[in-house]
Order: sequence, then structure tokens, then C-alpha cells
Amino acid sequence: MNHDPSLDSVSTLAHELGHAYHNRQLGDLPPLQRETPMTLAETASIFCETIIQNAALQTAQGQERLYVLETQLMGHAQVIVDIHSRFLFEQAVFERRAGGDLNPSDLNDLMLWAQRETYGDALGTLHPYMWAVKPHYYGRSFYNYPYTFGLLFGLGLYAQYEQARAAGQEADFQARYDALLAATGQATPLELAARFGIDLHAPAFWEGSLNVIRRQIEAYEGVSGQ
Ligand SMILES: [Zn+2]
Repeated sequence: MNHDPSLDSVSTLAHELGHAYHNRQLGDLPPLQRETPMTLAETASIFCETIIQNAALQTAQGQERLYVLETQLMGHAQVIVDIHSRFLFEQAVFERRAGGDLNPSDLNDLMLWAQRETYGDALGTLHPYMWAVKPHYYGRSFYNYPYTFGLLFGLGLYAQYEQARAAGQEADFQARYDALLAATGQATPLELAARFGIDLHAPAFWEGSLNVIRRQIEAYEGVSGQ
């Protein structure tokens, strides 16, 4: 990975180590049981990022606190907001492609449309070539929204981790967490989440995760207003 002395790079390192940790849990299983659906592929990576960022936030004061919160929020803006535009784009490409070939200028038009749909007038400059920039469009279809799913699911899991830690049950959480990662090739996300008491069909669960981000925005506004 690329690395520079920033929290963003350290977060990316934590992210990739999360993938390594997930693979470690799957490592002893037969190959057919290691296949993880893309919705769960970013669970451990985002969980790890959250641990590192929240640890940094615990000791950061003043300007440094602002920097940590900004790093967190820039990441979340990408995962929640920008990935929505990528989802709209990819969906539109598949729909249009059923009717015939698409050339680069068609793709540019669709990308600009998707960005306007997502950002409204909040972005001064749109980027028509995002479809060429992001490798996530190539390989597996729709490999963008797993990041949104992973972030919101990971934040929900993280909330449970904090509760367990406060109750002195960290070891119990870790055992269940490891079991969840080891089972990602053997049960649906719905079933695995249910083992943690999480109903993925309940809007309240997703709202709860979004509320974590809303509180980070409030904290950022609180520090930047000082
Ligand atoms: Zn990842």
C-alpha cells in the first residue's frame, strides 16, 4: 500500500490488516467455505479502521481532534455519499447496456448525471472520468456498495463491542466476532447478524449507525466553532 504520515494512511493500513484478520479466521476452513459474499467482505476491515480512529480520538485535543474527526468524516462522506453516486451510475450502465454498446462519452454523461443526483449543487467540480479512476467497477459487479454496507454494519458491531467492553465482556465479544468472521462463507448476512441480535431488515439498525456519523459531524462542528 501507499503510505504517508497521515491518519488516513494509518487507517488504510488498519483496514488492510482487518482483511488479514478476517482471512486468518477463515484460514483453517476448506476452500469452499472461505468464499465470503461481497456484503461481508468489508466488515472486519472497517471495524479495524473504527478501532484505530476512535483510539486516536480519545486522546486528541483541539486542532488534532479536528484533524481526526475530519479524517473520519472525509472517509464517511466517500463511503456514504460518493458510493451512492457510484451505485446509481453502475445501475444506469447495466440498464443502458441492455440496449446496446456504450462509448466513453455515454459513460461520462451517466457519471455526471449520477454525481448531480447524489451531490445536488454541493460540488463545484464534477468528475466525468470517475468510471476510469475507480478499479471497483472492474472485476465484480456492484463492488462499491459493500463499503457502505460494511461501514454501517461495522459501526453497529462496534457499538456492541463498546457495550461488551464496558460490561467487562470483551473476550466474549471477540469470540463471537471471530466466529462471525469464520462463518461468512457459510451463512447469509441476515443470519450472521441475527447472532449478534442485529436485524438487518430493521431501518432502526441502519439509522442507529448513521446516527454515529451524525454525532461525529456535531462533534466536528463543536470543535471547529471553538
Ligand atoms: Zn477493503
